[in-house]
Amino acid sequence: MSAGAPVGGGCRSAPVLKERGQREVFCGLTGIIWLHRKMQDAFFLVVGSRTCAHLLQSAAGVMIFAEPRFATAILEEGDLAGLNDAHDELDREVARLLERRPDIRQLFLVGSCPSEVIKLDLSRAAERLTETYAPKVRVLNYSGSGIETTFTQGEDACLASMVPVLPATEARELLVVGALPDVVEDQMLSLLRDIGVETVRCLPARSMEAGIAVGPNTVFALTQPFLGDTCAALERRGARHIAAPFPFGEAGTTAWLRAIADEFGLSDAAFAAATDAPRARAARAVAQAAEHLAGRTVFFFPDSQLEIPLARFLTRECGMTALEVGSPFIHNAIVGPDLDLMEAGPVISEGQDVDLQLERARALRPDLTVCGLGLANPLEAEGLTTKWAIELVFTPVHFYEQAGDLAGLFSRPLRRKGLISSLSG
Ligand code: SF4
Repeated sequence: MSAGAPVGGGCRSAPVLKERGQREVFCGLTGIIWLHRKMQDAFFLVVGSRTCAHLLQSAAGVMIFAEPRFATAILEEGDLAGLNDAHDELDREVARLLERRPDIRQLFLVGSCPSEVIKLDLSRAAERLTETYAPKVRVLNYSGSGIETTFTQGEDACLASMVPVLPATEARELLVVGALPDVVEDQMLSLLRDIGVETVRCLPARSMEAGIAVGPNTVFALTQPFLGDTCAALERRGARHIAAPFPFGEAGTTAWLRAIADEFGLSDAAFAAATDAPRARAARAVAQAAEHLAGRTVFFFPDSQLEIPLARFLTRECGMTALEVGSPFIHNAIVGPDLDLMEAGPVISEGQDVDLQLERARALRPDLTVCGLGLANPLEAEGLTTKWAIELVFTPVHFYEQAGDLAGLFSRPLRRKGLISSLSG
């Protein structure tokens, strides 16, 4: 199946069910887990509580002999009661850290619920510390607090904090925005080079030396749909967004590359020469996994903002029917091209009132429910088959070579369920 034209009018103009209530998602600190691996000269200093430290430690599964590129400066009771000057203590911690780790070139002060509650002004701290340590170290700040951010918004806040300090350029360049595992990023860069794009830069870059700059001739493509603030920050610097479906699956990857090729006026022949073989491989791999998905129904709880592009992939390339597609936020300018390609029919919901949404899922009894860890066990106990949404963020799933694995992530729980039923039957 190809990306092609909108199906049945698509879902872009479908009414959106907006809900605001209790939500079940991780906070934005989680993004540090993949960002610290990606940005090899960066360090993330969370200004938070022991809870924040535990979240990071257990989510990252860091080995004790590894020297990770993140830590938590723990706010003690005296700080929370306003008895100590938290700014002085933060300066002391940063001085100790930078002395011990001369490899650090970018330091992110990451706000948390406790630092927000005591209104610790981390932007002032970042400015002060930049004055002290520039030009060797650049100090930035963003919030990963559970009050302000969900799960993947941490990456958005981090990247958005970098945009205002990027150098200016007049060059016509492509900036690809969104953290990808290195091996996937290399595959993408090779595809872009083969279709004829001359200069490509990535945000985040592996190091500050990568020469990323931004200006009125910069065009950018997103690889992750949760980068609304970063997109707005780049547009404020004069850069222009190339709207496209996200590069999930064969059709999504082709449509994403096609939008870039059209932007740069690249030849169809080079495009076909670069993409025909990996497209065919991806289509075969997806078709294999899709055997277990075709004709089944899927229900997405809001979690990572990947829901709409993934629902497009499952409905267009794997033959599934979406019953509800929930996303924490819906930016039409970002996920509009994916909504266009989804057949009208599913409920599109934004935000969450978890009890109401659980009632809808129970009534519909989808074949597969994609949800957070906290909901998966209770739903499994009720006989529903679930997929942990967080795995979709931690597993390489972008571009042609991962298309089969992406479909496999959804087919595996259904296959397992089928096997268990046949054994117990
Ligand atoms: Fe918990 Fe807030 Fe810390 Fe996240 S930032 S771990 S939600 S206290």
